[in-house]
Amino acid sequence: MTSTLHGAGVSPGLRSGAVATMPPPVPEPTRTTLGPGTAADDAAASITEAVHAVQADLSARAARATGTAVEVLTMTAAMAADPTLLKEAARKVREELTVPARAVWEAADDLARRLESLGGVMAERADDVRDVRERIVAALTGQQPPGVPDLEQPFVLVAADLAPADTATLDPARVLAIVTSGGGPTSHTAILARSLGIPAVVAVRGALDLVDGEVVLVDGREGTVERTPSAEAVARAQSGSHVERSFDGRGRTADGVRVQLLANVADPAAAAAAVAAGAEGVGLFRTEFCFLGRTDEPGVAEQVTAYRAVLAAFPGRKVVVRTLDAGADKPLPYVTADDEPNPALGVRGLRTAVRHPGVLGRQLDAIARASAAEDAEVWVMAPMVATPDEARDFAAACRERGLATSGVMIEVPAAALQSRWVLAQVDFASIGTNDLTQYAMAADREAADLAALSTPWQPAVLSLVGSACAGGAEHGRPVGVCGEAASDPSLAPVLVGLGVTSLSMAPRALGDVAAVLAATSSDLCTELAQIAVASPTAAAARAAVRARLPVLEELGL
Ligand code: PEP
Ligand code: MG
Repeated sequence: MTSTLHGAGVSPGLRSGAVATMPPPVPEPTRTTLGPGTAADDAAASITEAVHAVQADLSARAARATGTAVEVLTMTAAMAADPTLLKEAARKVREELTVPARAVWEAADDLARRLESLGGVMAERADDVRDVRERIVAALTGQQPPGVPDLEQPFVLVAADLAPADTATLDPARVLAIVTSGGGPTSHTAILARSLGIPAVVAVRGALDLVDGEVVLVDGREGTVERTPSAEAVARAQSGSHVERSFDGRGRTADGVRVQLLANVADPAAAAAAVAAGAEGVGLFRTEFCFLGRTDEPGVAEQVTAYRAVLAAFPGRKVVVRTLDAGADKPLPYVTADDEPNPALGVRGLRTAVRHPGVLGRQLDAIARASAAEDAEVWVMAPMVATPDEARDFAAACRERGLATSGVMIEVPAAALQSRWVLAQVDFASIGTNDLTQYAMAADREAADLAALSTPWQPAVLSLVGSACAGGAEHGRPVGVCGEAASDPSLAPVLVGLGVTSLSMAPRALGDVAAVLAATSSDLCTELAQIAVASPTAAAARAAVRARLPVLEELGL
C-alpha cells in the first residue's frame, strides 16, 4: 500500500528510484590485543591487503566519476597508499600485538594530529587521513565504507544529513534524488542539491525508516516521498523529467523593467556553469568556500589566485565578492571560536573582523589585486551587517584599497529595518534571505524540526525585504536578493514587486525565474507583493500568489 512521508521540498523535480541509505559512521574499534592463535605477521599482512583493496576501490571510483569527485577520490586513493600509515600500523600489530583495525585507527590518528600541528596545506590533509582510516577499518571489519554509496545503478540517497565532505563525491548522474531526516530549507544540503539540480526533500519524518532497495517517488517541489508508488506514478516521474529552460541573458518583466539575473558561485566550476547558463554576472561569490576545512589563513597570493579564477569567467560583467562569512554553519578555525554557546548569534560574518582585523584587511587586499588583474566589474560586500556604523567602517576599508563599489548583506532584521541609514553608507545591498528568515523567525536554518518556519514566504520576512528595498530606494541604491528565495520562480515576482532590483541564484534556476518574470508585468509584481505581505501565513501567501500566476502551471513550475 502507498504511504507518503512529508518534509520540506528544497530542490524541485519528480524522480523515482531505489533507495540507498548512507551508511552510519565507522565506529572506533576497541583496544584489544591479538588472540593467542593469531600470527602477528598474518595480522599485519591483512592491513596491507585492506589498504590495497581501498586504494583499488577509490581509483576505480575516480575513473568513473566526473567533476570535483575525480580530484577528491584520486587524492584519497593517494592518501591510502601513504607508506607511513601502513608501516606504523604494522609496527603496532607486530610489536604491541594490537588488533589490525585498532592499529590502523591509532596510527592514522597520530598521523592526522602530526599533520594538524604542521599547519598550512599539511593540516588540510588531516581530514583525508581520517577518511582513509575509516575506509581501511571498514575493509578490515567487513563494514560498509563511509560516504555516499557507490552503486552501479542510479539511486535515491537517504541520509540523516550530508556533511560538506560527502557532497564533494555526489554525482548528479547517479543520485536521482536526496531525502534527509535533518536539515532545513536553507541548509547546505539544500543549497547544494539545488545547484546540482538534484530533486531533494529535507526534514522528512520517517526518512530513516526507508530501507535499501525499496522504490520511492520523490517530489522535490511538494516535499513528499511516496513509498511503494504505483507503476503509473513511477512512469510519470520517468517521463516527465524537468526540461531545463534556457535564459537569454537579460532579465526583465513583461513590460520590460530590467531585473538583473545573476548567479551564486563558490568556485571556478560553478562560475563556468553560471556562464553556460547565461547569468548576467555573479550576485554572490561565497569566498569562504574556497577555504573551508583550512586550519590557517590562506596567504594573500593564494587568495588572489582563487578569486581571479572566478573573476576571469566574467570579463566586463558584475561579480559581487562577499568577504569571509565565517561562523555558525561555516566555521573557519582561524577566525571563529569553537566555544560560543550560540554561534548563529555570535561573532560571525563581518563581526569576526573586530577580533581579527588583519584577516579582513588581507582579504580586501587580495580582492583588490585580483580585481586589478581581471576585467570583471568587482563589487565587494560584507556579510552579517547589523548597524550603519559597521557599514561605514567596511566601506572605508574598501575605499582605502581602491575598491570602488562596496555594499552589505542584509541578513539581520535590524539592518532591514534601518536600511535607510545603512544604505546611506554604502553603494548597494544584497538581502540574504536564508539568514534573514532564520533571524526573523528565530528558527535555526539547519534545524529539521523548524523547517515549516524557515521559509522566505513568511509574510514577516517579506515585510523586512520591503523595508530593506525602501531604504535603498531613498538613496537610489540597488538592493538585490542572493538568498535561496531568489531561485523560487513563484517568489521572484513578489520580490521584484517589493523593490528588489536583482536576483542571484543557483545557475540552474535562471531559466525558470526569467520565464516567469518575462510573463509578469511590473504592476502585477507590485500587486503580488501586497497580497503576500498582507497574508496571515506563509502558506496563505504562497497559495494566493500562485493562484494569480497561471504561467507557473503553463510552464510546469
Ligand atoms: C543568506 O543568508 O541568504 C546568504 C545568501 O548567505 P549564506 O546562505 O551563505 O549564509
Ligand atoms: Mg547568510
